[in-house]
Amino acid sequence: MRFEREVEQEYRPVMLAALQRKVDALAKEAGSSVPACPQCGQPMGHHDTRSVSWLARWGRLQVLAPRYRCVPCQKQCRPLLDLLGVEPGRICGSLARLLALLAVVGPYELAVRLAYLLLGVRVSAMGVWRVAQRLGQAAANYSEALSQYHADSRSQGAPVEHAPPVVVVGVDGCFLGMQVRTTRRRRVGEEPLPPLPPVEEGQFRDVKTGVILLPQERVETSPGRRSVVRRFLVTCLGDADDIFRRMYAQLRELGWVGSATMVVIVGDGAEWIWNRATMFVRRCEILDFWHALEHAWGFARLRYGVGSAQADGWVHQIAEDLRAGKVEDVIARLKRLRPKTAELRESLQALISYYSENATRMRYDEYLRLGYGIGSGAVESAHKQVVHARLRQAGMRWSEAGARRLLALRLLLLNDNWALLDRMRMVSLA
Ligand SMILES: [Zn+2]
Repeated sequence: MRFEREVEQEYRPVMLAALQRKVDALAKEAGSSVPACPQCGQPMGHHDTRSVSWLARWGRLQVLAPRYRCVPCQKQCRPLLDLLGVEPGRICGSLARLLALLAVVGPYELAVRLAYLLLGVRVSAMGVWRVAQRLGQAAANYSEALSQYHADSRSQGAPVEHAPPVVVVGVDGCFLGMQVRTTRRRRVGEEPLPPLPPVEEGQFRDVKTGVILLPQERVETSPGRRSVVRRFLVTCLGDADDIFRRMYAQLRELGWVGSATMVVIVGDGAEWIWNRATMFVRRCEILDFWHALEHAWGFARLRYGVGSAQADGWVHQIAEDLRAGKVEDVIARLKRLRPKTAELRESLQALISYYSENATRMRYDEYLRLGYGIGSGAVESAHKQVVHARLRQAGMRWSEAGARRLLALRLLLLNDNWALLDRMRMVSLA
């Protein structure tokens, strides 16, 4: 341990110096070229040259950055900073990506502590927040562009000659607490920030997660417990159309929807899912088995009491029959029941309606035989990983942009696509 730390201590300054030499070399190379005004195209005039510093992985770097101006167009630029991708006084480059990674895993204050423990870097929570925003915006732009690209019928998706015969998709959603204020609170002098107003009704936004997986990649990790080797996630802070658009884009990007591909859609019975499922011509709609049972539980608890063996047995029988594809029998049996109270009658009627409306999506024997699966467990667990684990911790509230950016970053990580961030430029926050 000591050896490792000693070597690190010794070589940090050496690495910083090497990095500084590379920056200097680039500055020298770029120094003589005069940029053209983006508006009028005329060469811009030199205005001033100032020393600019920023924080990199092994310490502070600096460079003399010339500023150019076009007076008539009121344009100015510092091309060297653009070339380096740095903002004066800020965090840049590989460090920014590492900090963003920490911010994607935990709250900003925790990321600050992790940054020190793991990287030996001292940064502020604001600094971490800022890089997460800048990179998150880049990631959000990328995924938005991708779904727009694939929404255009003329655009080309990945080749589909290896499209799988079956692909399973599912959607899940929950609500995020949103910030009420439209501008960030600013500290004035030494005064502490005023507390946030409490969340009231209507200050929530729907966040949805879509999951795409191949049924043959489901593996049984232990008896009865299935997990998937690989799944692709999409997410959005928005409406039903948006999440389906994103799922479709991801499917096209993967080359997973050929003309013969069966798209299996697993849902909890929410109407908006089935309404949009029709966009897939070859499809199989499945009502999530556990949701189907949950509805039976609702009635059983009311009729036999919570935790009673009778309720248990009754639901167990329904589960057996549903699994065997006997949904019509189950409905017929429910219709023969004559409950005594109005409350029970109402609950039973709701159950019968739910099963009747979804009967064509409850051919569980068939789905099992075809290997489609019958539950949306993978969808729910994915949604929890994307959203709950980071964005739904106690007291958290989000700005629209903040949530969208962090979701975009989290998706890159969970889709095992973090390296993609290297190809994106950090977006400037105006
Ligand atoms: Zn100009």
